[in-house]
Amino acid sequence: MKLRQLEITLQKLSGFSSPRAVLEQYPTPAPLAARLLYHASLHGDIKGKDVCDLGSGTGVLAIGAALLGAKRVTGVEIDERAVRTAQENAASVGMRVEFFTGDVHEPSLKTRIGTCDTVIMNPPFGAQQVHADRPFIDLALSIAPVMYGIFNAGSRQFIETYTRSRAEIDEAIGGLLPIRRTFAFHTKDVQEIEVEILRLIHT
Ligand code: SAH
Repeated sequence: MKLRQLEITLQKLSGFSSPRAVLEQYPTPAPLAARLLYHASLHGDIKGKDVCDLGSGTGVLAIGAALLGAKRVTGVEIDERAVRTAQENAASVGMRVEFFTGDVHEPSLKTRIGTCDTVIMNPPFGAQQVHADRPFIDLALSIAPVMYGIFNAGSRQFIETYTRSRAEIDEAIGGLLPIRRTFAFHTKDVQEIEVEILRLIHT
């Protein structure tokens, strides 16, 4: 599937029906999701692989991985309603993805997921709860040799320090995350946040 086609398909998926600020529920916009997936694909990390999406929300990244030929895709998400929307989204494009409810803080989650080849994720940036992305990074590195994550621009240094001796960042791709007015504390109709897609490999 071509990049443009992937974007168009992902664009059609439903977002959060009643997003929750504390969980930083912003769906990854289709162009940014497609960008992450395409880079991962070019590295050979999607097609024929076992892919996990942590904090899968309404499923855009997980479903995109399935569309690009992943062998098996699993999505874990704390919000049950988002899980349902993700399941409907996958069905609407004829893809099989296993979405289930789980909290990345749960120690038992690692056993429930098992191992996978590649983790893809757009975790909370920590705007609501400091270091909210850390349990995502920890879990990702404990289940897969490679992970792709979307982070606030400028996070690279912090993540490098945080994952020192466990992983190294071998690629950083800049991007923009347009956030539509969703919560009462948003002052603009659309606010563009600079982000970076990081590829981390387990050392
Ligand atoms: N991956 C989706 C959603 C990104 S928003 C996408 O790309 O569109 C971040 C997601 O992480 C939200 O769906 C939120 O509910 C989920 N989340 C937040 N805290 C979580 C936790 N502790 N465990 C699992 N999921 C969590």
